[in-house]
Amino acid sequence: MLTEELLKDALQYGKAFTKLGMTAQYIPQLRDVNKYYLGVCTMDLDGNVLEAGDTRIPFTIQSISKLVSLILAIRDCGADHLFHEKVGVEPTGDPFNSIVKLETKTRPFNPFINAGAITVASCIKGKDADEKFERFLEFTRKLCNNEEISLNQAVYESERETGDRNRALAYYLKASGILEGDVEECLDFYFRMCSVNVTAHDIAYMSLVLANHGVDPLDQEELIEPQYAKAIRALMLTCGMYDGSGEFAMTVGFPAKSGVGGGIAVPLVDRMGIGVFGPALDEKGNSAGGIKILEYLSNKMGISLF
Ligand code: GLU
Repeated sequence: MLTEELLKDALQYGKAFTKLGMTAQYIPQLRDVNKYYLGVCTMDLDGNVLEAGDTRIPFTIQSISKLVSLILAIRDCGADHLFHEKVGVEPTGDPFNSIVKLETKTRPFNPFINAGAITVASCIKGKDADEKFERFLEFTRKLCNNEEISLNQAVYESERETGDRNRALAYYLKASGILEGDVEECLDFYFRMCSVNVTAHDIAYMSLVLANHGVDPLDQEELIEPQYAKAIRALMLTCGMYDGSGEFAMTVGFPAKSGVGGGIAVPLVDRMGIGVFGPALDEKGNSAGGIKILEYLSNKMGISLF
């Protein structure tokens, strides 16, 4: 059983690994975060919330936003069109921002690598980047049960200024006929969705909704169609931890999505949502301490799916 004491032990265990990691170095706003922050929040279906460590420190959602945008794009374009014409559902084994397979494959391997996520962003409806972002923000607030969630303007500006690799991916996708519409507008929306501030508490709630088949446990509103929640949990398991997804499945053993801001979202189906924050990243771009917290909990509670 999960107790506050077990969660504190997991945090202590994870802390030893933060010094081995490094914050994301590509923009100053991420680079200069205290790398020793570490926190974990769990929420179960009976409304029990447990927190240990830095669960209320805001950090940018980064790649965890790709869960939210994927749901919107499936609704706007239809799952068949999206997964047959635009992005695949297979792991790549390459880093998240890799460009290497774009020339040899007709479409990005999956919606969580940057090429796939930029394609997904282009499928979201809205008359301009502002309208798309409004829809994204409103939905993120619902999924996290937090109306205060907002854009981190400084991170957004830095992402936009330094995002040439993402720009290269997007223009290549446009040239191949995968990405439709205005490339700069699509990128502007993509940079904004990565730059929304959340906390481990917020991410735990979003994970709980995914674990509860898309239904908000507080008011029973269906926020995500159950079949999409299921597809997203499956994709999280196979592709959610970048090119460390296979090892994570072996050592921890449940669906998860990480971001370079240090967050990890974990939906344990029919059981609980877990949100982790630890900005010291390992060489794959996943929270070094965060993974160790999850490994500890998985082993002590015997909750690996395998
Ligand atoms: N803004 C980052 C990028 O697109 C997100 C990376 C991530 O969290 O994986 O490069």
